[in-house]
Amino acid sequence: MTDRVRTRFAPSPTGYLHLGNARTALFNLLFSRASGGDFLLRIDDTDLARSSIEFEKALMEDLTWLGLNWDETPLRQSERIGLYQEHAERLLKNKAAYRCYCTKERLESLKKNQLAAGKPPRYDNACRGLQNNASEAPHVVRFRVSQKEVSFIDGVHGRMAFQADDIGDFVIIGSDSVASYNFASTVDDGLMAITHVIRGDDHLSNTPRQLLLSKALGFDAPVFCHIPLVLGPDRMPLSKRDAGASVRSFREHGFLPLAVINTLSRLGWSLPDGTTLKTLEELTQAFSLKRLARSSAIFDVSTLRLYNKAAIQTEPIERLMETIGTGHEAAYLKKVVVAARPNASTLKELSLLVRPFIAPPELTPEARAVLSSSAAVQVIKACIEALRLPGAPEAIDEQYYKLLLSGVTEKTGVKGKSLYMPVRAALTGSCEGLELAVVFALLGRKGALERLERS
Ligand code: GLU
Repeated sequence: MTDRVRTRFAPSPTGYLHLGNARTALFNLLFSRASGGDFLLRIDDTDLARSSIEFEKALMEDLTWLGLNWDETPLRQSERIGLYQEHAERLLKNKAAYRCYCTKERLESLKKNQLAAGKPPRYDNACRGLQNNASEAPHVVRFRVSQKEVSFIDGVHGRMAFQADDIGDFVIIGSDSVASYNFASTVDDGLMAITHVIRGDDHLSNTPRQLLLSKALGFDAPVFCHIPLVLGPDRMPLSKRDAGASVRSFREHGFLPLAVINTLSRLGWSLPDGTTLKTLEELTQAFSLKRLARSSAIFDVSTLRLYNKAAIQTEPIERLMETIGTGHEAAYLKKVVVAARPNASTLKELSLLVRPFIAPPELTPEARAVLSSSAAVQVIKACIEALRLPGAPEAIDEQYYKLLLSGVTEKTGVKGKSLYMPVRAALTGSCEGLELAVVFALLGRKGALERLERS
């Protein structure tokens, strides 16, 4: 085995990258980077019917967006079918594998009988001892499991042992001549010189098969570390068919990559110093296999929102301005974004908060209702009068804002919510948003007057 740590992320391009898989990629990357090693990408696309080049492209885009950059050229398993066949030939030659000619019907009835007898379904090794075992008649290739027990030290769970009886002689090359997942994965992990595999607990039962194959092929097996699956708040695994849990959909909802990375990093890994937002470099420095957890990890969108709020505060202001769109005076837009960002948990929220300041606001139905009372009309009128006074300053600071509103109260007798809401509604078109003092400060006397008059 090489001393250099080499990890890999091996997604199947059958859907969008979901949070569970993204966490797998993240941990493999953090571990390899922390050890000064390599992080490789392999596309496990031997399931030709379900794999697509579009999903492959999307996976790569989403990994890149997250900042999870891989080393070397990614491998694509569909281009290595012949290589797997060559390795299977080697196992056939040294009798570690054999051709199995059992028909589908036979296997089905075998399974039915075993289940009826209360036994777990297992291949009965009927073709193990066949004399004519080189015929090219339709067949699969099975691996001969001759050990009684397969045990290994899992990087997270410690010693694990599996009974060979529970495994049975399993298929490594299917009737379509395509390698099974376990076989292709073992051949590739060996040829790619992978030293560590961090992956979800759902693959634990594959590991004894992969270890047996690895040994038979003469590879040094990687260290396997199985981590609990990422669950939703309902304790169901976040599946890749659940489009809502895809990295892409969080991106579309205005979450930043750093927030996603921070949230994922806390799922199944206990960081020494808690919950502050960290850069990928800081996470790398802190990463250790020893702190991977055995208990299940629950993804909670409120945690993601907290990290996102923190990430929005550290994002370069120009990048945030880009997400709002172009066509606005830069200095003014910058002022608005700076004022709005402490209140935004997502980029969408940021854009909603900023919108009233860059375009004349449309009244929401609530705002319309607020403005329809006679008290509201009085308030707006008094506000306009005060702002039209010759001494009214152009820039409205906190002090003048307070003066202005207390003047309106004196004049109209209206205070509290009945005072603020109509003014807010007239200025921003909405009953929610930034603090009113900030709204005045951003609009200035001229902008505020225009909007009050229009309402
Ligand atoms: N293609 C497999 C998956 O997406 C890879 C599993 C592994 O890490 O070996 O689940």
